[in-house]
Amino acid sequence: MAEPIRRIAFLGLGIMGAPMARNVAAAGFEVTVWNRTRAKAEELGLPVADSPAGAAAAADATITMVVDSPQVEEVLFGENGAAEGMAGGHLAIDMSTIAPTAARAIGERLGERGVAFLDAPVTGSRPRAEGGTLTIMAGGEQGDFDRARPVLEAMGELVLRVGPQGHGQMAKLINNTLGAVNAAALAEGLVLAGTYGLDTDALLQVIAAGSGASMMADLKARPMLDRDLDPLFKLEHMLKDVRHCLAEAHALGVELPVAERAERLYAEAAERGLGERDFAAVIEVLDGDAPVS
Ligand code: NAP
Repeated sequence: MAEPIRRIAFLGLGIMGAPMARNVAAAGFEVTVWNRTRAKAEELGLPVADSPAGAAAAADATITMVVDSPQVEEVLFGENGAAEGMAGGHLAIDMSTIAPTAARAIGERLGERGVAFLDAPVTGSRPRAEGGTLTIMAGGEQGDFDRARPVLEAMGELVLRVGPQGHGQMAKLINNTLGAVNAAALAEGLVLAGTYGLDTDALLQVIAAGSGASMMADLKARPMLDRDLDPLFKLEHMLKDVRHCLAEAHALGVELPVAERAERLYAEAAERGLGERDFAAVIEVLDGDAPVS
């Protein structure tokens, strides 16, 4: 039986990765970190490796939390990539949100080297990353998931295996696409309320107690109204997730007309330079005078 995991390499310390790495260290694991922009890694006060390979060589398991599959592949298989530092029996866990097809390909490539792989994307933004209360949905072998569970539980409250490799990402994409659609509809409602002259505080109380209630209404209505767009989850990342979901659906011959409409709204917001703002910025597209076709 594989040894329990004690030493972790954590690669990618952005909005989500930094607090997640902190929680893994706080749970007692020996964590070595690496980030493309080294200064962010040094802020954490944990041992910093010079390369992904160096971090992985000092670990039993490697976590990647970057952007999309090109970045995950670069960190794993690029020059001085983590795969170079992984001995047989190493476990790689990608927690970024990427396409399920890409996750399966990465799993296969690592498997050829004797390295186990889980796709384990997360839901919950920075506050839940900080609090260690993320939802984590993993795809991969049951034995690999069981081995990873103590590490994942240092970051998440609900930690579950949803199926084989790729299934974690598919669950994540469907969830985020629902969130994206919901936030766009919320923005629409708030624009209508403002135009009508409705008391938006009263409206938010009604929504919270009514059939329009949602996590998006709880989290994003106030930032949308206040145009508080400091990113907790970047709009360009939400757009990436909706696009991956649409691509997977189309490959299966499934139409997602509502998600397609939402994709156009987020794409227009990105074209207007709002990609690095929070996805609550979708309201800017609906509130402008240029209608989206
Ligand atoms: P972020 O703040 O933009 O951080 C991105 C990280 O990726 C940074 O560490 C960045 O390094 C690194 N990176 C970018 N390009 C790279 C490259 N070519 N090579 C190596 N590293 C690279 O993003 P985030 O919000 O933490 O999101 C990370 C992942 O989690 C994404 O897949 C996102 O969709 C997903 N996610 C985010 C949230 C959320 O609420 N924020 C929630 C659930 C899931 P630098 O510091 O050098 O730029």
